[in-house]
Amino acid sequence: MRLRGWIDRMRGAFQEAAGMPPGLVRFRDGRIEPPWSCELIAAYQCNISCSHCNQASPIRRKGYPDAATVTRDFSRMAPIYHARYAKIVGGEPLLHPEFARVVEALRATGIADGILLLTNGMLLPRLPDASWKLLDRIEVSVYPETGVDADFIARMLDKATAMDVEIRFVAFDDFRVSFSRPGTDDENLIRRIYLTCKMARVWGCHIIHDGHFHKCVQSVHVPTVIGAPPESARLDAVPIDGGPDMRGRILDFLRSRQPLRACRHCLGVVGRVEPHRLVARADWLAEHDAPTEALVDFEALERLEAGEDLSPGQGRTVAENRIERARAVA
Ligand code: SF4
Ligand code: SF4
Repeated sequence: MRLRGWIDRMRGAFQEAAGMPPGLVRFRDGRIEPPWSCELIAAYQCNISCSHCNQASPIRRKGYPDAATVTRDFSRMAPIYHARYAKIVGGEPLLHPEFARVVEALRATGIADGILLLTNGMLLPRLPDASWKLLDRIEVSVYPETGVDADFIARMLDKATAMDVEIRFVAFDDFRVSFSRPGTDDENLIRRIYLTCKMARVWGCHIIHDGHFHKCVQSVHVPTVIGAPPESARLDAVPIDGGPDMRGRILDFLRSRQPLRACRHCLGVVGRVEPHRLVARADWLAEHDAPTEALVDFEALERLEAGEDLSPGQGRTVAENRIERARAVA
């Protein structure tokens, strides 16, 4: 494990020295490629309320991107950026009232080889066949108390296989705390959290949201957590304006070792581990009222800094079908 971490760090140092983005982000045919996916937030809200939701869904107002915005943003990105999957996330994305239209718009931009839906699964039985056919892969986050049990999983495995869609069920029994409302003024700690943040610096969990390119989903939602205007998240992002220097600005942004403003209130991948719970929406913010120092798992932070290959918060696969391919985007 330590050797793998050391190799990753050496590769990261080499990439940064060579002027490339850190982590697993690559170039191919002049385009930036994240290791797996780029993400579209299809709905802010969710049909459940998890205690440490890293999308802050329990306190977000309803909001959905329309198909025209998806077309504009992802079409501008497509000449300089390409992913294996365009990943549709939430909140709960299946709450989007025009889900199929948005997926069609996303697919038509050619930003990715396939379309991936991330969902808690509860609304899958209501998904029309026409929408299933727009998807290449579904990842279901399985939480306690949501009714996604063995019987439900067996039915959805059959359905997905019949619809020619890959599906994987991943159980999360615990969460890492994602946010601290008071945050911290300790610049050294902020920097340590950012430099060990796999989302921004290894996994490349990029978000294309409301005309802006973000490194991570937390940077979209921190303003809501701290009571700032949601639009202030744009200060931690690059405008997707289609300008001739947009690729260079995004590369500079990805290469930067400067923490985001949001990192002051974010735990990255080193938040304390807590059992998964559903909480009342009204109580959600109180769960994040401790300062960063009280919510960091310092052992995980130090192990990551020492080069261990921890992949915190990844859950465990409990079921999947075996369709080993993704359809090409039309
Ligand atoms: S299922 Fe839980 S973690 Fe996922 S978006 Fe909903 S509230 Fe957040
Ligand atoms: S806000 Fe900072 S620490 Fe949090 S996920 Fe983004 S880059 Fe990582």
